[in-house]
Amino acid sequence: MTVKVRFAPSPTGKLHVGNIRTALVNWLFAKSQDGVFVLRIDDTDLERSTKENEDGIRADLSWLGMTWDDTFKQSEKFDRYSQAAEQLKAKGLLYACYETPEELERRKKIAQSRGKPPVYDRAALELTADDRKTLEAEGRKPHWRFKLSGGRAEWNDLVRGQQSIDTASVSDPVLIREDGSFLYTMPSVVDDIDAKITHVIRGEDHVTNSGAQIEIFLALGAQPPEMAHMPLLIGADGQGLSKRLGSLSAEQLRNEGYEPMAILSLLAKIGTSDPVEARESLAQLAMEFAFSKMGRAPARFDENELNGLNAQIVHGMSFDAVKPRLAKLP
Ligand code: GLU
Repeated sequence: MTVKVRFAPSPTGKLHVGNIRTALVNWLFAKSQDGVFVLRIDDTDLERSTKENEDGIRADLSWLGMTWDDTFKQSEKFDRYSQAAEQLKAKGLLYACYETPEELERRKKIAQSRGKPPVYDRAALELTADDRKTLEAEGRKPHWRFKLSGGRAEWNDLVRGQQSIDTASVSDPVLIREDGSFLYTMPSVVDDIDAKITHVIRGEDHVTNSGAQIEIFLALGAQPPEMAHMPLLIGADGQGLSKRLGSLSAEQLRNEGYEPMAILSLLAKIGTSDPVEARESLAQLAMEFAFSKMGRAPARFDENELNGLNAQIVHGMSFDAVKPRLAKLP
């Protein structure tokens, strides 16, 4: 089996440090397994996605040396997503809902005041065809939710070990908005099926999503891929990322004179059992990569450490190689 992974940024902003780390872990794992690295552009949100950001992401990945073996955009696949949605509807697993955001908010508050979890109550499942007609005649448009099984979604995470999500404790996710546009959840699964992705590697903020997505894979008749959820980045002080680090982009790092290998060495090693040391090439980092080295604690991103690695790398370079870079420094 050839390993095939994807890095799936949304072109709604620049490539920031957290994205670079996700791309890097995908890239290193793929290359360590002689596998394939796919760049998928998650541009289902047509209003917030821009060509400029997409071009920027491609330029940043190229600058960092993380070239891709294949690439595509979700906006090219809307017909395919509609087809998958029809498949789910036919199975009764995608149902129309008509609540307004205000109604949902009110119900959430009532549930909370009764000590119940703020989970969608599935009232829309009780609607008859006539009820729906009446609502639509009033001008209401449906949004569509995926019907979770209410059982447990389980997987053996390459970083977190055995995972079990109680799908009864989360709301049925909305897959399609009132205006007919797709949210990220289902297109991602459809793409992973179509591209035959073998491993989904992303941040641990997606763990709950994975529960729903595993059920969507199964509902569409596919076996879910292996999954790895990485702990998030934190600042040197052990707190969440500072405002600067949270939005620090590849472009900014480049303009500030950082070497790609300083950034990549740091991001490959933090949160792992390896020491943080400068490496000369991505190939070397790939050779040293293993999920078993990755811990479950958040990874500390320390700018001083980045400066140290950068100095070490620049000192090791010939003057001719450094000269054009010096000219760029402020
Ligand atoms: N576009 C999603 C994100 O940036 C992709 C998540 C995934 O890897 O599935 O969060």
